Amino acid sequence: AVPTTALRARAEIDLGALRANVRALRARAKGAAVMAVVKSDAYGHGAIPCARAALEAGASWLGTATAEEALALRAAGLTGPVLCWLWVPGGPWRQAIEADIDVSLSGMWALREVTAAARAAGRVARVQLKADTGLGRNGCQPADWAELVAAALRAEDEGLVRVTGLWSHFACADEPGHPSITAQLDRFREMTAYAEERGVRPEVRHIANSPATLTLPETHFDLVRPGIAMYGVSPSPEIGTPADFGLRPVMTLSASLALVKRVPAGHGVSYSHHYVTPGETTLGLVPVGYGDGIPRHASGAGPVLLDGKWRTVAGRVAMDQFVVDLGGDEPPVGTEAVLFGPGDRGEPTAEDWAQACGTIAYEIVTRIGTRVPRVYV
Ligand code: PLP
Repeated sequence: AVPTTALRARAEIDLGALRANVRALRARAKGAAVMAVVKSDAYGHGAIPCARAALEAGASWLGTATAEEALALRAAGLTGPVLCWLWVPGGPWRQAIEADIDVSLSGMWALREVTAAARAAGRVARVQLKADTGLGRNGCQPADWAELVAAALRAEDEGLVRVTGLWSHFACADEPGHPSITAQLDRFREMTAYAEERGVRPEVRHIANSPATLTLPETHFDLVRPGIAMYGVSPSPEIGTPADFGLRPVMTLSASLALVKRVPAGHGVSYSHHYVTPGETTLGLVPVGYGDGIPRHASGAGPVLLDGKWRTVAGRVAMDQFVVDLGGDEPPVGTEAVLFGPGDRGEPTAEDWAQACGTIAYEIVTRIGTRVPRVYV
């Protein structure tokens, strides 16, 4: 195996930090259970190791978007409750039922498919009804809720499903004081009360994502569903920094400087020559690019800690590499270039990259691709 220090690039994943973050979130959630959201390969951190670490630290549920993600958790030997919420017609309902995975239903078509699969499997499907309380994305509209609830109760009577949860998702929980937050919360209370009055007995009612878990205790209900906070990244600058909540970033992305060379003034750098050296200088080659998930929007903007200073991506980010202008410095090849990490060695954070690229820190960590080895520490 290549020693980790000789890797072209690496994403170091600090599972101790993840565990501490889960403990901090549990403390903040008071009595509510914690569902560790590990979709999209745990936001780029690696679904299986992160799921395991989160459970060790006291999370009691796992959450995924796709059925394939949920089934992969079971294939890795993870037991305990799992909810998966993004279904399309013809999805692997039966496998999910047989793997004891809770499936989310947002409409009648999904209830029809899951009851058919339950009948075929001879098993009771665990289903959670998702309400659209105002996000306008997945979830059942209030106008259609009575029909879905009544049909789910009939399927319960037939022994085909058990309604284990009632849930929803916020649109603007990362914008403190946004009027939609209380509007969604009111609607969630109405929709869950309606279902319970008609006989639904959910194990869990839940709506809180990371920003709600961190800042809105009245949204916690029986369970909170943090994703980004568990990875030690802030949901938004308005919510605060990770440190404000006792959270520590889990991922450190670094690469080994691949080439250092002197070039004259007026030298074009990378595709389209968007950067031209203002004087004789030293260029450093950082061997990661958009093929590794580095946003091309970081061209001319992304910060890197290299040889004790922040450098900026000079010119375009290419598929496999980008260049920084080292000015008068000449660090040796192999010097570690840290793109982002917790920040306590002076390196930029994922939030700094998000700002430089005009995106959110969620995207920065999640898009780091499989070509970058994860090194678990
Ligand atoms: N719940 C659902 C349904 C989601 O789609 C997500 C992620 O977008 C989360 C919870 C976790 O959100 P966050 O990463 O903001 O905590």
